[in-house]
Amino acid sequence: MLKAENVRKVFGSTVVLDGVNLSVQPGEVVSILGSSGSGKSTLIRCINGLEKLDGGRITVDEFDVSKPRELAEARKRSGTVFQLFNLYPHMTALQNITLAPIQVLQQPKAEAERKARALLAQVGLGDRGDAYPAQLSGGQRQRVGICRALAMEPRYLLLDEVTSALDPEMTADVLGILADLARGGTTMVFVTHEIEFARQISNRIVFLDKGKLVVDLPTAAFFSAKGGMAVPRIAQFLS
Ligand code: ADP
Ligand code: MG
Repeated sequence: MLKAENVRKVFGSTVVLDGVNLSVQPGEVVSILGSSGSGKSTLIRCINGLEKLDGGRITVDEFDVSKPRELAEARKRSGTVFQLFNLYPHMTALQNITLAPIQVLQQPKAEAERKARALLAQVGLGDRGDAYPAQLSGGQRQRVGICRALAMEPRYLLLDEVTSALDPEMTADVLGILADLARGGTTMVFVTHEIEFARQISNRIVFLDKGKLVVDLPTAAFFSAKGGMAVPRIAQFLS
């Protein structure tokens, strides 16, 4: 299980995460909604250890991200895809995907490449392994980014607005891949502005507002008049 308990994060005098509790079970798809600045990215960055907590605790399968000796294990279990394509420009798609499996998991190169090619085929890029990022469209680059995260065989896939820099057609492309992964049982924590898509693929929806987790509800309840929609801030956000 991925678990955040009473997480607090402060930047200067701004409380960015204020007592956030969240748990994600293997197999679940949990979407995080909330307006810009509500703390969604910071929560993701805390989960993968890119930000230090100012209070509370985050564990990934019992490994505490705040303990230096446990962080590496916690990180192996979660893979993150960010909004902006952060592929290495001087490496091909295949090299981008195989880098960490070879260096961190010590997979033999041939095995890492075989797995990477299978992942690329799964996202419709079977013939683009030798392309450099500049030779790929934004949607294709983001699909390579998803492959790069999946190549580490994470138990949890964290996605932070992976489609917000894409045009509608490429967005549909990438969301299609994520829907396939959700159906295949990949556990996901999905930060998004794609509300309708979140509704289709999520088991649960959590809503962040000014660093506080306002609700955590099963998807149907989140969108129901007596559930999430009864919270004025959420009704306003969804309209
Ligand atoms: P979201 O992803 O929901 O848009 P963020 O987590 O990016 O929100 O940001 C939450 C708040 O934290 C914002 O007010 C933002 O300005 C602030 N913030 C985020 N990162 C930093 C940082 N490195 N230094 C200072 N303030 C930051
Ligand atoms: Mg963000």
